[in-house]
Amino acid sequence: MNIKISEVASLPSKFGSFKVKAFKQGEKEHLVIYKENLDEVPVVRVHSECLTGDAIGSLKCDCRDQLEFALKMAEETNGMVIYLRQEGRGIGLLNKINAYALQDKGANTVEANHQLGFDADERTYEIVPFILKHFNISKIKLLTNNPKKIESLTDIEIVQRVPIIMIPNKHNKDYLNVKKDEMGHML
Ligand SMILES: [Zn+2]
Repeated sequence: MNIKISEVASLPSKFGSFKVKAFKQGEKEHLVIYKENLDEVPVVRVHSECLTGDAIGSLKCDCRDQLEFALKMAEETNGMVIYLRQEGRGIGLLNKINAYALQDKGANTVEANHQLGFDADERTYEIVPFILKHFNISKIKLLTNNPKKIESLTDIEIVQRVPIIMIPNKHNKDYLNVKKDEMGHML
């Protein structure tokens, strides 16, 4: 893996005072947001980019709520958020918007991905062990509802799963049900 790593910078935010470091993997530039005095076994959130949710506040999904929850928890527990630039569960922004267009016509999130020729989830996490090793972290508590993410994160000792509980809204209720019923999320 050819990865470029930035310097450390301070980032005061609405959710706490963090340190940030960027990791450039090919075309993708990821961001690690963490507390300077990291816990020995930190709570870590691996968040994949969702421009419509994270930046625009889309109610079609729960990404922004999860991100805010994770940043608050990082502040409270001296943890870390690894923000991976794999938009739209790994299919990119353009394909994601095409999937949304199919959803406007009645497909659910999984069906829409399949109609476009993708798997329900195309994300990969091979950079995560690299990042954790960089920070000398060998054990983590993983903040997730997604059991597949636990399976994908090989080479990392996950001592505990910390759930993220979100309150559904009327726009994302069906989406969350598909995540639960068809993608195995523990909601
Ligand atoms: Zn989202």
